[in-house]
Amino acid sequence: MGLLSEGSPLSWPETKALAAHVQRHGIEQFISQFNRLKERRGDSLKWGDEVEYMVVRLDRRARTARLALRSAELLDQLQATERRHPDAAPSLWRPEYGAYMVEGTPGQPYGSLISFFNTVESNMRARRQEVEALLQPDEILLSITSFPRLGCGTFTEPPCRPTPGSGSSRSLFIPEEVIFPAHPRFATLTRNIRERRGKKVAINMPVLVDERTPRPFVEDLARLGDDGSSQAAALPDHVYMDAMAFGMGCCCLQITFQAENLLEARRLYDQLNPLCPILLALTAASPIHRGMLLATDCRWDVIAMSCDCRTDEERGLTPLRQDRFVIPKSRYGSTDSYISECGRPYNDVELVMDPALFGRLAESGIDDLLAGHVAHLFIREPISLFSEKVQQDDAVDMDHFENIQSTNWQTMRFKPPPAGSNIGWRVEFRPCEVQLTDFENAAIVCFVVLLTRVILSYKLNFLIPISKVDENMRRAHKKDAVLTEKFWFRSDFLCDGSPCVDAETEYSELTVNEIFNGKGDEFPGLVPLVTHYLNAVNIDADTRCTMGQYLQLIRRRASGELQTTASWIRRFVAGHADYARDSVVPESTAFDLLVACQEVTAGRRAEPTLLGRLGSRTDNHLPAAILRTPSLYKQV
Ligand code: ADP
Ligand code: MG
Ligand code: MG
Repeated sequence: MGLLSEGSPLSWPETKALAAHVQRHGIEQFISQFNRLKERRGDSLKWGDEVEYMVVRLDRRARTARLALRSAELLDQLQATERRHPDAAPSLWRPEYGAYMVEGTPGQPYGSLISFFNTVESNMRARRQEVEALLQPDEILLSITSFPRLGCGTFTEPPCRPTPGSGSSRSLFIPEEVIFPAHPRFATLTRNIRERRGKKVAINMPVLVDERTPRPFVEDLARLGDDGSSQAAALPDHVYMDAMAFGMGCCCLQITFQAENLLEARRLYDQLNPLCPILLALTAASPIHRGMLLATDCRWDVIAMSCDCRTDEERGLTPLRQDRFVIPKSRYGSTDSYISECGRPYNDVELVMDPALFGRLAESGIDDLLAGHVAHLFIREPISLFSEKVQQDDAVDMDHFENIQSTNWQTMRFKPPPAGSNIGWRVEFRPCEVQLTDFENAAIVCFVVLLTRVILSYKLNFLIPISKVDENMRRAHKKDAVLTEKFWFRSDFLCDGSPCVDAETEYSELTVNEIFNGKGDEFPGLVPLVTHYLNAVNIDADTRCTMGQYLQLIRRRASGELQTTASWIRRFVAGHADYARDSVVPESTAFDLLVACQEVTAGRRAEPTLLGRLGSRTDNHLPAAILRTPSLYKQV
């Protein structure tokens, strides 16, 4: 999330009344920005990562681990350098949904020099140290995807209580104080999603059935103050959650790329799209939610349900009367269409859209693929609106566009240049779960960036029907998907970028191992493709060595030789003395797990099944001499 707009949030009824205004003007803003910048070219590859962290307070005597609600305080200190020298801060810090979360990005995006790959990990390490320097002795910083006991009894420091009868979420489990307090956006989103939906959100994730898990697994929610509505929304054999925090309170790893021009951005958006479920499965790291082991390994569906503002009519449960569309997915979901010409034959999911907004985009010269994408985003109403932002100049402002765009949380995001900036057309890759160590996170980031280089340089084509990508998203969630699932994947991947012919034989079902490491004559594998590319470009020995370690990690995670973070967490819980094989993760187990996570992160605990003996040098940085003579290094 970029810098947040400041101001006074409107109530839901006020926002609802202005929804059509925001949508109409948002479209006009996109049109004017598009027409101004559609011919923009010559932007170089720039890219950057975003890592989210949680602050946890340990009580080693009581063996409890609680979320420290300190991010507002920490951010005030973390942003001090940026406030003084906006262009010279080594890292940038932003609030996230949770009052225990912070998000860090590099101070400047990375450039196209290949040796930048060798700086990512040390930059991540420096970022982590920046926060750690501000922590109290009993606090730790973790890059974990889900906090295991979020929503279980007392889980915050200071201790706070849920208020089912008041507050923005009305949750039985989540106190209001868990939501980042220093900016109204987060609580406003929470309230408006609930009010728009007409009831609390309902997240139901399948419970992992262990030896002693009661069957059917049904919880008594009345003891938490339920008025009956939660009990009615909770499914048997599922873990029920009722607040946005369960989803938006998760951490993730995101990567943004700037393309050379609009066409390249559209191409990258499409080509990375089928890779989203595959990278989600590989990075799976969240098998525990609300203190229970789930039958799933990833956060994605939890967040999708946690932000689902659709009404019963929009969900197709009751006939359309007040609302205009039946909408198949939550506004947090996987993308619904390709936007490059090459993707056209693979758009096999019908896009719900307002024909008037589509018509307006089309008549201003925007082609149907992009017009469809934007009009589809704009079926969503604004769910947070600030009074100061209502009146805008559509020729220069972009707030109404950004309002809808930034609350369509999809696996990929196509980002037009921001208003008044010198930034080019960008795409954001959003599926990955965050890993414990800077080494792993750097490996994933560098791998995905390299994939973009490989896709563009070799003109590869990974497109499969969008419905198959959706199917892959479902498969990616399953426990141990890396080992047990097959994914639709295009093996006929050599394409010159011109429109492709549709044929069922273009794609088949491959395991994650086959996708990354290859399958005979059918597909060479993503890792060998990246290796081939790295061998073809000129890189220094040090960077090559680091990349070798990163590729080993990816290769071995994909083959199952190393565990995913999710399966490592499962194994830790299953082997813990206090775990009673009933799917419940007790407080002492969660404490030991989080301590172990911290030790892995700090490199004090060897976990051969998770990391092998892999690891890169810890002091990677771009030597000043290289910075002064970039011509020494091949531009990519
Ligand atoms: P978000 O939409 O996720 O809030 P931000 O604008 O905060 O995105 O930027 C997210 C990421 O984009 C960061 O990693 C940052 O380094 C990177 N970034 C910033 N400027 C550029 C650019 N011109 N090209 C590519 N990436 C950029
Ligand atoms: Mg974020
Ligand atoms: Mg982002």
